[in-house]
Amino acid sequence: MYYGEKKIENPIRWAMVGGGKGSQIGYIHRSAALRDFNFALVAGAFDIDPERGKAFGKELHVAKDRCYPDYKTMFAEEAKREDGIQAVSVATPNGTHFEITKAALLAGLHVVCEKPLCFTTEEAEELEALAEKQNKVVGVTYGYAGHQMIQEARKLIEKGMLGKIRIVNMQFSHGFHNVAVEKNTASTKWRVDPKVAGPSYVLGDVGTHPLYLSEVMLPDMKIRRLMCSRQSFVESRAPLEDNAMTIMEYDNGAVGYVWSSCVNCGSMHGQKVRVIGEKASLEWWDERPNQLTYEVQGEPVRVLERGMDYLDDSSCTEDRIGAGHPEGLFEAWSNLYSRFAQAMDAADKGKKADFWYPDVHAGAEGVRWVENCVRSADHGAAWVDYR
Ligand code: NAD
Repeated sequence: MYYGEKKIENPIRWAMVGGGKGSQIGYIHRSAALRDFNFALVAGAFDIDPERGKAFGKELHVAKDRCYPDYKTMFAEEAKREDGIQAVSVATPNGTHFEITKAALLAGLHVVCEKPLCFTTEEAEELEALAEKQNKVVGVTYGYAGHQMIQEARKLIEKGMLGKIRIVNMQFSHGFHNVAVEKNTASTKWRVDPKVAGPSYVLGDVGTHPLYLSEVMLPDMKIRRLMCSRQSFVESRAPLEDNAMTIMEYDNGAVGYVWSSCVNCGSMHGQKVRVIGEKASLEWWDERPNQLTYEVQGEPVRVLERGMDYLDDSSCTEDRIGAGHPEGLFEAWSNLYSRFAQAMDAADKGKKADFWYPDVHAGAEGVRWVENCVRSADHGAAWVDYR
């Protein structure tokens, strides 16, 4: 159980790039970072429009002289201050993540970057090497991973409760973009523009989320090869896909499947991970994140509930309110931001974090997976060796 105890000595002086007024994801970054007093928001370049960004910074109680017109000015000016920023979160459209994260690392800052970390494996490897060289943390906001039942799934599998793993069935398939909503919505318009969104739409936008959850649940399983078929059902989105089916083979003989979609009419989120072993299966669904089903062949389904004594101790350390009370995505993100802060604090003390969190390697893996999916899809859904 977590009661709000101090996790690090002093709050990390923190800034944001992007996440301005009207953005989809800015608020949850601030809410998650500020909730446990691990971070203090002291500066920002919140918006592509400098005036709008400064006005919004004022609303967030950021000092006027620390609301900057752009990230370059912010990194340069903050470096001159004794009380300058120590970490920055990047919540801008995809096409800017690589350059801003690289500049932040070079400026000696820890980073929390939105997914995708960048567009190519080459860029991802550059960021991995730079983070290592600079001894800085790069956290990536695969936010659903902060739900406590994801840790419980990991532990059930680790304890052998499912037996040998055979199948991992994943999906993140919502229905919100079944028609060309991008004609009227700015935040969807850039998502279907390859110059801003990168080489994919739904594979990167939604598919990488359950993929990362499966990496947390099954840390030892590695993809050997995959095939992917992608479609643009709203034709104007081509060459970017609004639907994709990916089949994967793992090196231990298991198989996996990821359905990524934004045209699944009627579906709210449709993010599910089902892991099937030789003895039993488990299933987690982000629309009921406080529950995890454990299904033994021939027995009634068991619905495990967040916060209960029968869970592994490690699945309850981030319980904030007790079982029965629903926790949600904001708590999951807060858990991740707390881990980011502790990892940053450990790095500053020359130590490595002894817990998992979506780090620079997880971000790189998402980029690698999308790249392989696109390579397969663009070669007629051919099997491609994972590289
Ligand atoms: P959005 O279009 O709603 O907002 C983008 C914000 O960034 C705006 O405030 C814009 O003014 C600002 N901006 C753009 N370029 C900038 C720049 N160069 N400098 C400073 N500010 C800049 O986008 P969004 O939906 O909030 O998505 C932002 C990122 O978050 C994307 O990469 C997206 O993939 C990711 N995202 C992640 C999740 C998740 O679950 N982790 C969910 C939604 C979005």
